[in-house]
Amino acid sequence: MKDTFTHKGMRNKLVETLHKKGITNKDVLRAINTIPRHLFMDSGFIDHAYVDKAFPIGADQTISQPYTVARQTELLNVKKGGKILEIGTGSGYQTAVLLEVGAVVYTIERQNELFKKTKLFLPKLGYRPKKVIFGDGYIGLETEAPFDGIIVTAGAPYVPKPLLAQLKIGGKLVIPVGDGVQVMNVFTRKSNTEFEKEEYGEFRFVPLLEDKN
Ligand code: SAH
Repeated sequence: MKDTFTHKGMRNKLVETLHKKGITNKDVLRAINTIPRHLFMDSGFIDHAYVDKAFPIGADQTISQPYTVARQTELLNVKKGGKILEIGTGSGYQTAVLLEVGAVVYTIERQNELFKKTKLFLPKLGYRPKKVIFGDGYIGLETEAPFDGIIVTAGAPYVPKPLLAQLKIGGKLVIPVGDGVQVMNVFTRKSNTEFEKEEYGEFRFVPLLEDKN
């Protein structure tokens, strides 16, 4: 597991690209500049690590596109020490970005193979989520709720009710909604019963699937 000056140079370029595409949050850009994304991918694909593209990580899943990771993190508006729930651990790259911007992270993955791999891998890089859970993100994580933010990193056919219910007042749910193509939805909890909804353009994710496997 090596991180070299070449990789660092490539990360600098990637950060410039993301900045040009409209990412302005300094903490998010610094996180992307710090995290060795190539180590989250199989070694044969390291050349692809610092292009702004999603990439296969095995078990039919992908590591999200850097722009998407940056945009979702920016929209989540993470405060230092903020309690964040991530649905779809996958490679753990988004988890690492959340930890770098100062969040306390709980993350759920439904594929056992990926869950086991990523749970072991993250601490090797010094990234320590509060909990990595094998489970179904549709039901959220009632035992640890409420959260300052919930981020869903797979395309949801609809907005799961438990996720809205597990937000603090003022908390945000960032979730791509739709079949095939998704619209990035941000829900802010205004009171026990009121939520404000904003939409932030189209994205493409692998689907949020029911149940674990
Ligand atoms: N955050 C990841 C993105 C991985 S792709 C990264 O940065 O690499 C989306 C992930 O969501 C996949 O790993 C998929 O297995 C997982 N997923 C899909 N449906 C899920 C569900 N209902 N609960 C938890 N994870 C789910």
